[in-house]
Amino acid sequence: MTKRSDWGEDTLLNHPRRVPLLPGNDPLVAPIHQSVKFQIAEEFSYQEQFIYSRVSNPTLRQLEETLAEFQQTQECMVLASGIAAISVTLLALLKSGDHVIAFREMYRPARIFIRDVLPGYGITASILKLGDSAELERSIIPGKTKLIHFESPTNPNLEIADIERIVAIARKNQILVSMDGTFAGIHQHRKSGIDLMIHSLTKFANGHGDVLGGSVAGEGKLIARIRNLAHLIGASLDPHAAFLIMRGLKTYKLRYEKQSRTAQEVATFLQTHSRVQQVYYPGLGDHKGHELAQKQMKDMGGVVSFTLEHSRALKAKNFCHRLQLIQFSISLGSTESVICPTAEFFGDDLDPQERRETGIDEYSLRLSVGLEDSRDLLEDLRAALEGE
Ligand SMILES: *Cc1c(COP(=O)(O)O)cnc(C)c1O
Repeated sequence: MTKRSDWGEDTLLNHPRRVPLLPGNDPLVAPIHQSVKFQIAEEFSYQEQFIYSRVSNPTLRQLEETLAEFQQTQECMVLASGIAAISVTLLALLKSGDHVIAFREMYRPARIFIRDVLPGYGITASILKLGDSAELERSIIPGKTKLIHFESPTNPNLEIADIERIVAIARKNQILVSMDGTFAGIHQHRKSGIDLMIHSLTKFANGHGDVLGGSVAGEGKLIARIRNLAHLIGASLDPHAAFLIMRGLKTYKLRYEKQSRTAQEVATFLQTHSRVQQVYYPGLGDHKGHELAQKQMKDMGGVVSFTLEHSRALKAKNFCHRLQLIQFSISLGSTESVICPTAEFFGDDLDPQERRETGIDEYSLRLSVGLEDSRDLLEDLRAALEGE
């Protein structure tokens, strides 16, 4: 072969020299392996090596191992988004003829996927009321119901699921349970008997609102089933996104705890304000899931939902536009506070009765608290509530 010193310019540019690291001289921050493909080494089997990043990549693996260890589960898989983690998990665990149970108090796209998309694959679904365990037991079809999927706290109105009860019903009937724990974050509900714990890493885990990502954690055998399908569906996370999520995780606990403290202050302020009709926050004593939340959770999270006093006829949408500091935007769990009306963004697929029963109307809002000083947030809310 031609010597390196005799190579043409294009060859040189496309085969740069590697900079080797001495043993023990590793970078303190794990690097981004931003490469789709890897050199295939002669001395190892294909299974042992990284080959193609849709299937395996060291930066993705780093994030998976970090999340599995932190969540105290055997295995974890990361995917391109939270909704990819949900849809791939459901498709991997269910097949034509199976039945799945979910709840109407749930993230809108997940509800639509279960209710409207899965039946096209021969998978039927029952969408129940979250708190009704008698209805849950009645809805199980022996031999057909294979999975119960739920959220806690729920998006957008922070209902709290009785996890112990759902898990007990599932165990008794030999049904798997998957939970979307996005609102509770990755440090809660770790030893609750859930078979598959799903998170949108886009939210609190990454926490900076700059990348999408999702994860599903559980026993190795179940994650292997999900992984096999995920490789065929191709909803893989990009290594650069995984790197940013790794960086975000370092301050995860600090952010989640501060956001929970601020959210408690905001919820308390809203609750005592005459122009607010109802506040949904599990940290408030009169929230219907307060006792369960206290039993199951340590931090109540950074999302506060509330309804404006109807008699004043200030619609949620108009209220959002009045705020100056808090931005009218969607998503949650990142550094800046955002607010949006719940009816348009999370409830337009529910019928009027379901909307009423889940506390969604044209006066209702979901606020995600960021890292700002709480007094600035309270003042912004006060001015928007009291202004004409
Ligand atoms: C945002 C969200 C998701 C979806 O996550 P993406 O990363 O946006 O796909 C799923 N579940 C809940 C509860 C969410 O809030």
